[in-house]
Amino acid sequence: MTQLENLKDGILDGQRRALAKAITLIESSRADHQADAQELLALLLPHTGKSIRLGFTGTPGVGKSTFIEAFGLQLTALGHRVAVLAIDPSSTRTGGSILGDKTRMELLSKDQNAFIRPTPSGGTLGGVARRTREAMLLCEAAGYDVVLIETVGVGQSEIAVADMVDMFLLMLSPGGGDDLQGIKRGIMELADLVIINKADGDFKKAASRAAGDYKSALHLMRPKHACWTADVLLASALKMRGLTEIWEKIQAFEKAMKDSGQLEDMRAQQAKAWMWSEIHDQLADAFKDSHLSKVKDMEQQVLAGKTPPTAAARSLLKDFLN
Ligand code: GDP
Repeated sequence: MTQLENLKDGILDGQRRALAKAITLIESSRADHQADAQELLALLLPHTGKSIRLGFTGTPGVGKSTFIEAFGLQLTALGHRVAVLAIDPSSTRTGGSILGDKTRMELLSKDQNAFIRPTPSGGTLGGVARRTREAMLLCEAAGYDVVLIETVGVGQSEIAVADMVDMFLLMLSPGGGDDLQGIKRGIMELADLVIINKADGDFKKAASRAAGDYKSALHLMRPKHACWTADVLLASALKMRGLTEIWEKIQAFEKAMKDSGQLEDMRAQQAKAWMWSEIHDQLADAFKDSHLSKVKDMEQQVLAGKTPPTAAARSLLKDFLN
């Protein structure tokens, strides 16, 4: 049996080691590894798609890891298999990672029915997103029925995540109205469910008030899906409160999306968009690798303001395509 077939069987058998190894293959930039990774993905594709794909965001300190650990443990106790992946573009700059800290989600990482994978480091957001998307498919082939993709509430990574998941969850702190201005409206618009965390102790009242504020704010937004109205739920990750209601909401969302046929449509559109972003990325890579002699020259001209960027791009692409 070839190594790839071994890997495939290991993944289909649900072995975490095989899954981790395959994700490492996907993350490698070596051309032969990339070819193997694509072959493996093609073999596993028929076994993908059976999970509920969740995107999860919130600013640092809001309680994401506390929540994911508590929520993940609750789901594994119910018999689910939970995979946690992450996208953190800031880690490509700082070398750190939102899931890199070993002390995060210590209990969940020891759970046999959970799989936690830190952010792939290095590369552009597009590259990181691609690897996370492929890792998600591998997790599905390995039998994980809940895949959660975490991102920090900054920058473009939310959009990348929203484009690869079924449901997008936004976690907020009980700051209430003041906070509302701090959050980008665009991120609110992506949310299928808003969770106000830390609804405990001294924060309890503020959390209820905040929930009211956010509900009104959501009301004013255009619904993302015809079959679903985004809602706001309270939780305390620390006290493990509100988790059951959140899981029930997620299941209700999945049912509404499936029954209306929108889940299938959305996934198909996402796959198409993914193909196009691959075309963009692969073209750009091929262009960079082509070592066109004119590039440096043209760059200088653009820097000096002698040639407009669009004209420069046009001229270089014409040479590249010839
Ligand atoms: P992350 O940066 O979003 O992953 O946030 P963490 O999960 O690391 O939590 C940040 C801080 O908030 C920690 O000190 C947690 O103990 C605390 N925290 C998290 N969830 C809750 C909660 O539900 N209630 C309270 N009171 N504190 C919480």
